[in-house]
Amino acid sequence: MQINIAPAYENDRDIGTVKSIINKCVHCGFCTATCPTYQVLGDELDGPRGRIYLMKEMVEGAPVTDKTQAHLDRCLTCRNCESTCPSGVRYGRLVDIGRRYVDAQVQRPAFQKLQHWLIRETLSRRAVFGTLFGIARFVRPLLPAALKKKIQPVTPAGLWPSAPSSMPHRRQMLMHLGCVQPALMPNVDGATARVFDKLGVQLTIAPEAGCCGAIRQHLNDHEGAHAQFKANIDAWWPYVAQGVDTIVINASGCGVMIKEYGELLADDPTYADKARQIAAMAKDVSEILPGFADELEKQMVARQAGGKPARVTYHPPCTRQHGQKIRGAVEGLLGRLGVDVRLCNESHLCCGSAGTYSMLQPAMSQTLLDRKLGNMMKTAPDEIVSGNVGCINHLQSGTDVPVRHWIELIDRMI
Ligand code: SF4
Ligand code: SF4
Repeated sequence: MQINIAPAYENDRDIGTVKSIINKCVHCGFCTATCPTYQVLGDELDGPRGRIYLMKEMVEGAPVTDKTQAHLDRCLTCRNCESTCPSGVRYGRLVDIGRRYVDAQVQRPAFQKLQHWLIRETLSRRAVFGTLFGIARFVRPLLPAALKKKIQPVTPAGLWPSAPSSMPHRRQMLMHLGCVQPALMPNVDGATARVFDKLGVQLTIAPEAGCCGAIRQHLNDHEGAHAQFKANIDAWWPYVAQGVDTIVINASGCGVMIKEYGELLADDPTYADKARQIAAMAKDVSEILPGFADELEKQMVARQAGGKPARVTYHPPCTRQHGQKIRGAVEGLLGRLGVDVRLCNESHLCCGSAGTYSMLQPAMSQTLLDRKLGNMMKTAPDEIVSGNVGCINHLQSGTDVPVRHWIELIDRMI
């Protein structure tokens, strides 16, 4: 698509990126077929091609309204359209910038501003969220059933780093803890530590590292997000200097963000090189564990493959399959370990969680959850597994079938 940038945008730091992304779009519309919001609403402007048009018109000088804002807000940033696009249009990056442009021109109602502020300032701070969630867990018995499902009880074995299984080993990797997961699902970090421990890898946490920055980045607080990127780089750098070369990430929403540090800090003279290196070190657990498949098999034989459910359905998070382009790794590994694992129909579609989307767009989020669980139940699972804290929590809120991180399943089996 040819594009003529309006003077108001000419000096913006991201306009070159916007131009090169929009230029690549050939307007073919293949992406609309896999866009969840287009599938539900059937409106061109709630599909990727229509949203790209809206952003093109905006940077060409067309007036921006609350309708433009609503169409961009309704996008899940699931990046399914990127997987479908034959021209390599990087829609996710474009919509991130487009939302910043819109929010600079269209005031949000006071309630929405407050909602965004509360989400930013609570979810992205581990200590604050941990305290609030601890209170919620305490009063869980008094809560309605729907809320109870969002607050899962914790087994003592899941607690980490206090779990005794984190032993010193010669091989070390850094582990990203993030902001929400340690309080919401400490079992996932506990399981990750135990599995790596059995494989002879010690996971180390940099205490100063915190939220990956995704929450702020997607709520248009790009300055705040960049500050979190830099804080994490500073926290991890002493370990990098000692030779640690891998950052283990078990929440794919964080993984996709950390892998973008290099690009998003490319113009920062102090951090550009470090950010590129950190991004290259970031690895989803599903990129690491297949390399240990033989060892995992041996561990299973030694323990006579305990704790294996009859039938497992895997939900691949969008941030893994579309954002990080990792496909087949989890199903392949679980299958090799003898698990009867399957994908449901429409497994490429978002479950509706999408980071903070379930809080900001609850109706669309619920529609997509119902659709996803409807497809999953047709596979009659004994257990559902996924790879991102948001997806797991969201899916569990709609079903009594246990939903866990797939690494918890491996932990149980070995
Ligand atoms: S990111 Fe997802 S919801 Fe947004 S336009 Fe692309 S496919 Fe549609
Ligand atoms: S599939 Fe790619 S090139 Fe085609 S309309 Fe969508 S974004 Fe543009």
